[in-house]
Amino acid sequence: MARTNEAPSERTRAKRLNEYARYDRETLHAILDAAPYCHIGYVLDGAAVVTPTIHWREGEEVFWHGSSASRMLRKSAGAEVCLTVTLIDGLVLARSGFNHSVNYRSAMLFGKTEAVEERGEKLRVLEYFMERILPGRWAELRPASEQELKATTVLKMQIAEASAKVTEGMPKDEPEDYDWPVWAGVVPIVTETKPPLADPRNLPGIAMPDYVRKYKLG
Ligand SMILES: Cc1cc2nc3c(=O)[nH]c(=O)nc-3n(C[C@H](O)[C@H](O)[C@H](O)COP(=O)(O)OP(=O)(O)OC[C@H]3O[C@@H](n4cnc5c(N)ncnc54)[C@H](O)[C@@H]3O)c2cc1C
Repeated sequence: MARTNEAPSERTRAKRLNEYARYDRETLHAILDAAPYCHIGYVLDGAAVVTPTIHWREGEEVFWHGSSASRMLRKSAGAEVCLTVTLIDGLVLARSGFNHSVNYRSAMLFGKTEAVEERGEKLRVLEYFMERILPGRWAELRPASEQELKATTVLKMQIAEASAKVTEGMPKDEPEDYDWPVWAGVVPIVTETKPPLADPRNLPGIAMPDYVRKYKLG
């Protein structure tokens, strides 16, 4: 599949297998929204650290949050980071070991993070995060306490210097290998949800909400 536009910067220009690179907003947004979590790469005391965490997107910004005591959140606040997300869609079995691969959708974002400090804005983005996944739940919950808000750090970064890579379809074998007598193809991979399990400590008469019953990943 051809790339749909040009890299926004030299460091986001894919060199290896650049035919799979995409830079358009639609692709980037779709991958960021479908990925259940991301990895934040940052530099700590001169060495690289990569930490998995949950993210969400609102418009042209990506957010993540956690304990204010988290080293990742403390050290990456106001710092340059690299955020990545990856979705694996299938194992690609080729006719040679060399041409085996996986079908995937991934995104890589570079930029400086910013802490969401203002109380009202912090509450609003946390509500957006919950409501995007479970619409209707925020209003049903015990409201967040001041202490919980203080104990939570929210960081954000612009989706500006960003790239995506998308691979799909059948194995790409050497022309002469198509005569080799071995099975080739794709084993699709999906991440799926199972039926929800109710907490035995639920109060009597509390029914499972529709947003739980209908929840779908992505
Ligand atoms: C699930 C999965 C499995 C993979 N398995 C392998 C493997 O086994 N071996 C292997 O060599 N590669 C693999 N890749 C591809 C890998 O992510 C890199 O694209 C590749 O290794 C080239 O790296 P590079 O540093 O030379 O990229 P370069 O082309 O030098 O990267 C330059 C820029 O291109 C963009 N870019 C590069 N890779 C990606 C990406 N994956 N997603 C979004 N933007 C990107 C970034 O902006 C990056 O800064 C895999 C990718 C995924 C998602």
